[in-house]
Amino acid sequence: MKSNVAFIRQLLGKIMLTTLVILALFLGGCTVQTPANAQKKSAIRTLIVGGGSSHNFDKWYKEVDVATLEKDGLAAVRYTSDVSEILPQLANLDVLILTNNQPMEDPELRKAIIAFAAEGKGLILAHAALWYNWKDWPEYNLYLAGGGSRGHDKYGAFDVTVTDTKHPVTRDVPEKFNLSDERYYYKADANGPGIKILASSSVQGNEVVYPSVFVINHPKARIVGLALGHDSASHDLSAYQALLRNAVKWVSRK
Ligand SMILES: [Zn+2]
Repeated sequence: MKSNVAFIRQLLGKIMLTTLVILALFLGGCTVQTPANAQKKSAIRTLIVGGGSSHNFDKWYKEVDVATLEKDGLAAVRYTSDVSEILPQLANLDVLILTNNQPMEDPELRKAIIAFAAEGKGLILAHAALWYNWKDWPEYNLYLAGGGSRGHDKYGAFDVTVTDTKHPVTRDVPEKFNLSDERYYYKADANGPGIKILASSSVQGNEVVYPSVFVINHPKARIVGLALGHDSASHDLSAYQALLRNAVKWVSRK
């Protein structure tokens, strides 16, 4: 009888221990599934490339735009102004945002960026990267930017009017807003794939309007051109921030 009691005690002890181990494993497993971690997992892997002349890339892209995109876990963003850091990261990216006007001379890098688009990945070409920056790389403007800018109005106020309110990139963006920026003279190249204008810029007393936000009709990739973005007046503006977040989401197809 005594040995039976001892046996039962021993058995209960083992059951308790096993239960504790299972509970610990379960709780341990649960930490992997927390919403915060799950959110991190699905964040859009994004690289912003800056660097070059005439702009405070560190302030407006590295600091403000990274924060805009990482808000609520939308994207996991890295920033670099070292163009040699682009190529090793391309394979693990959902979205590449080029804002730089510094050269990208490595032929392998150029090929890899064209291939990134051909794979159907997401690209955003912003402000300075919509210029005709690189005479020895016409494919960039022709196939990726669909054209480019060779000038802009002197920095000042102008209106931006959303012309396609149904497109996901213009969601929650006011139909008309005013900001101070450089109004880029972006023109689509007639030999390129063509663009679809989502928003355009105008100034009073001037009949010429220019595209401010547009989609390049690339056969595979989703590419958004965002001509705005010289300084705080755009990067700190909620309309700009909504356009940037929408663009990252849309080009990544997530
Ligand atoms: Zn500028």
